[in-house]
Amino acid sequence: MGRKREPEKLTMEDLSPEDQRELSERALRSAVAQMIRAPCELCGTPNKELRPYGPKGERICFQCGMKNEAATTRQFRRSLGEDMN
Ligand SMILES: [Zn+2]
Repeated sequence: MGRKREPEKLTMEDLSPEDQRELSERALRSAVAQMIRAPCELCGTPNKELRPYGPKGERICFQCGMKNEAATTRQFRRSLGEDMN
């Protein structure tokens, strides 16, 4: 009630302790997400869904895996323990 504030003029002091904690948890989560999102070793695209299915075992993204399906399939089998050696 009473004073109205523009949302963009909000500062940390305007937030309740709960909201401040929520904000810092969100910052922590996004920092963790950044660390997980390593770049694909073939195309360099940041991707959290990397798989070690590159021709030489590189950690690659789905798109790169689809570009070289034969190598991806071979590495996939190897990762399952079907070593051909
Ligand atoms: Zn890639």
